Amino acid sequence: MKIINPATEQVVAEVEAADAAEVDRAVERAARACPGWRAIAPGDRARLLRRFADLVDAHAEELAQLEIANAGHTVGNARWEAGNVRDVLHFYAGAPERHHGKQIPVPGGVNVTFQEPLGVVGVIVPWNFPMVIMTWGVAPALAAGNTVIVKPAEWTPLTALRLAELALAAGLPEGVLQVLPGVGEVAGARLVEHPEVAKIVFTGSTEVGKEIAAKAAARVKRITLELGGKSANIVFADADLDKAARTAPYAVFDNAGQDCCARSRILVERGVYEEFLSRLSQAVLGVKVGDPREESTEMGPLISAEHLARVSGFVEDPYLQGSCPAGPGYWFPPTVLTSGPGDRAFTEEVFGPVVSVVPFVDEADAVRIANDTRYGLSGSIWTRDTGRALRVARAVEAGNLSVNSHSSVRYWTPFGGFKESGLGRELGPDALSAFSETKNVFLSWD
Ligand code: NAD
Repeated sequence: MKIINPATEQVVAEVEAADAAEVDRAVERAARACPGWRAIAPGDRARLLRRFADLVDAHAEELAQLEIANAGHTVGNARWEAGNVRDVLHFYAGAPERHHGKQIPVPGGVNVTFQEPLGVVGVIVPWNFPMVIMTWGVAPALAAGNTVIVKPAEWTPLTALRLAELALAAGLPEGVLQVLPGVGEVAGARLVEHPEVAKIVFTGSTEVGKEIAAKAAARVKRITLELGGKSANIVFADADLDKAARTAPYAVFDNAGQDCCARSRILVERGVYEEFLSRLSQAVLGVKVGDPREESTEMGPLISAEHLARVSGFVEDPYLQGSCPAGPGYWFPPTVLTSGPGDRAFTEEVFGPVVSVVPFVDEADAVRIANDTRYGLSGSIWTRDTGRALRVARAVEAGNLSVNSHSSVRYWTPFGGFKESGLGRELGPDALSAFSETKNVFLSWD
């Protein structure tokens, strides 16, 4: 596979794609590594994960530069992402010594529960946040005693491969963490179908997620799904309009809009709609799009020529567009639309720097529009009325909401979607239970 820098269209690497037979060999290695990995004393397993985290920290700049060259991330984002990988590994390194069962008194004896590893876990990763999303699956899976095979996205395998090398250098035994670049329908599909793979963590499109869920159901294979989004950013008239409008572009244009949490529908209370639109327009025109290696750049390119064509197809009559470089590179300008539910861009996930802004009448109307989607991943509520913030937060059908903020992710809190945005939760301490089975043993004292 030719790996292309989306900001320059230059080939930066060539990577071999694994076929189904190679996946089978990797699964065999992972299965063989399982008993040894789970037998390592919890404190020692924790130490290995911490050493892995420390090596990530020592190579943070290298990983960030690799993500910039491979995925077109801005340098600010890429550095944050390398830090997030380190932090997530450290967080779950605390788990081997804490994630265990309980004892339950029962007549005639006692029940004890064990948190047993599942076995081999497959982690299938999209191209939008390659190293971060990989780690959200890998870290809790390893901490809970599983071995892992990662299938990175076709476009973006470079940081995943480097992380696997760092894991080996940290002393993780061979076979415990493998990275297999390959084509989704070949390598990814084989991981999903392989009888020895106990669980699939899939992050990607809702369409592929449904296909994986159906195949997994045939074997009652465990799955965690993190899928698409079409999140609402609800702005009430009493909000700090200036702050809401100034930060709204970064809630949807961050990573060039290739973010499952992108707040790509802005709903504004009718009385302040025009004022908000004018402030938002100023902010959008100020977004600096260009060379992702430059510190001042706020938005980079789209991932590929195909994706650029797809995003362009959503935009017919823009209200406003910012500027972007002419090329080479897969550039698309920050774009504001004012068309509502009749427009495909308002209902479908564009996954590009395109935001639709529409007015609403009252609280009930805002909630109705926000929920009028098959997705339910994230969203924001802007108001100075705490009661209303809470009411709306409870009423919006989404897994991750922010009040007077656009941020969604903190690694020690749960992350995941309602409705067709996913199944299960990642991050936080509870994610560990998605990587183990509870075994219940009765000990008779009679
Ligand atoms: P995608 O579904 O095309 O691909 C995701 C991964 O699945 C890739 O590694 C791909 O090779 C693999 N794949 C493709 N077909 C497969 C098959 N039949 N069997 C097994 N694996 C297969 O998604 P994408 O275009 O890479 O990513 C964009 C999507 O990901 C968007 O919809 C976005 O919202 C979603 N996403 C969701 C989250 C979340 O946390 N909810 C986070 C990031 C991205």
